[in-house]
Amino acid sequence: MTGNNILVINGGSSSLKFALINDQEANPRISGLAERLGSVEAGLSWKDSQGKHSKAISKAGHQQALAELLPLVQNAAPEGLQGVGHRVVHGGEAFTGSCLIDNSVIDAIRATIPLAPLHNPANLMGIEAALAVFPDLPQVAVFDTAFHQSLPDYAYRYAIPTSLYEQHGVRRYGFHGTSHRYVSAEAARLMNADYQQSSWLTAHLGNGCSTCAIVNGQSRDTSMGLTPLEGVVMGTRSGDVDPNLHSHLANVMGWTLAEVTRVLNNESGLKGLSGLSNDMRTLEEAAGEGHAGAQLAMEVFCYRLAKSLASMACALPQLDGLIFTGGIGENSPLIRSKTVAHLRLLGLQLDDAANLRCIRGVAGEIQASGSPRVLVVPTNEELQIALDTLNLIQPHGAAHA
Ligand code: AMP
Repeated sequence: MTGNNILVINGGSSSLKFALINDQEANPRISGLAERLGSVEAGLSWKDSQGKHSKAISKAGHQQALAELLPLVQNAAPEGLQGVGHRVVHGGEAFTGSCLIDNSVIDAIRATIPLAPLHNPANLMGIEAALAVFPDLPQVAVFDTAFHQSLPDYAYRYAIPTSLYEQHGVRRYGFHGTSHRYVSAEAARLMNADYQQSSWLTAHLGNGCSTCAIVNGQSRDTSMGLTPLEGVVMGTRSGDVDPNLHSHLANVMGWTLAEVTRVLNNESGLKGLSGLSNDMRTLEEAAGEGHAGAQLAMEVFCYRLAKSLASMACALPQLDGLIFTGGIGENSPLIRSKTVAHLRLLGLQLDDAANLRCIRGVAGEIQASGSPRVLVVPTNEELQIALDTLNLIQPHGAAHA
C-alpha cells in the first residue's frame, strides 16, 4: 500500500510553506519554505529523508518557487501526486468547510479580502501559482475560519449596531480552526471516545494563541474574533484590550490608527509585557534567572488563558477534557501547570510527573487522579489539510496512518 500523496501549501505575501504528506506515513516526505520571494535573496529550504537542504532562487516569485519545488516533489513522490491542499486564513461566512477550488471559490476568497487584507491575497498567490504549476491536479481550500461557522449567533455577534454585521460582516469568526478540529478529534480517538458525542476545551498556544469550546465535533465558541487579535495574550499580539484604547492612544500619543494597530499586533503580548522577547523559551529561561518582565509576562499569559478557558466552559454540557497544543502547549509543563492552577473551580489538577513527560511531540494525559482529563495533543495542521483534500477528491478514500 503506497498511500496518497498531497502537497500542502501555505502561501504568505513573500513566502510559501509546503509539505508533501502521504496519508499512510507519520512524517512528511518533504517539508520546507520558500522565502523572501520576489527579492534577490529569495531562497528555498527543505527537509527530506536525507536531511536539510537549501538553494538560492534569486528573484523567484511564488510560481517560480513552486516550479523549483516540482522536481523535488516528483522525486519524493514517484507514485505521483493526488492533489494540492491550500491553507486559506479567512473564509468569511461563505465557507463552512473545506472545498474544491474552482473560479467561484477563488472569487469568494477574493471577496473576503476586506476581512483579511494581509492574509487572503497572499493565500491567493499560493493558489494561483499552484494552479499554474499543477494544472491537472485537483486543489482544495481549507479555511482557518470554517470550523467556527457552527458558533451560535449569541457567541459570534458583537454588541454593536446590527447594520455593521449585516452590511459589513462585522462579527466574530475565529481562527486556528484546522488545529482545534484536528486535536479535538485526535483526543477523542486517543481516549476511544465518540467524537460526535464529546465536549472539549482546546488551547492552541503557538506564536498566535486561541481557545475553543467543541461540542459533538462542532466549535461552539472561540477566543479570536473578527481578526486574530482578539482573545488571549499571544507572542506579539495583545489579545483583548479595552476597545477605547485606540482613541485613548490617539489622544495621548498622537498615534494614527495604523500605528495603534501595529503596536497591538507586533509590539504587544509576551514581547510587550516582558520588554524582552515573544518567545516563551527565552522568557522561561529569563524568568528563572529573576527577570521581572519575563515573570510578569508569563503570569499574565497564564491567568488570561485560564480566564478564557473558564469562559469557554459556558458552552459545554460537560467537560471530557482540556487539550493543550501548539509550540507552547506541547512543550511547556510550566505554562500548563500555571494555567491549570487557576482552574481549580473546574476541578482541574495536574499530575506533575505526567505533565513533565509530555514534551517534544509526546501526547498523553497529564491530569491528577480525580481531575477531569487534561491532555497534550501535538497539532498537525498539514495532515488535517491533506486529509480534507483527500476526502474531497476521493470521497471515503482518506485513511490516516
Ligand atoms: P508555534 O507557533 O506553534 O511554533 O509555537 C511557537 C512558540 O512555542 C514560541 O513561543 C516558542 O518559544 C514556544 N516553544 C517551543 N518550544 C518550547 C519549549 N520547550 N518551552 C516553552 N516554549 C516553547
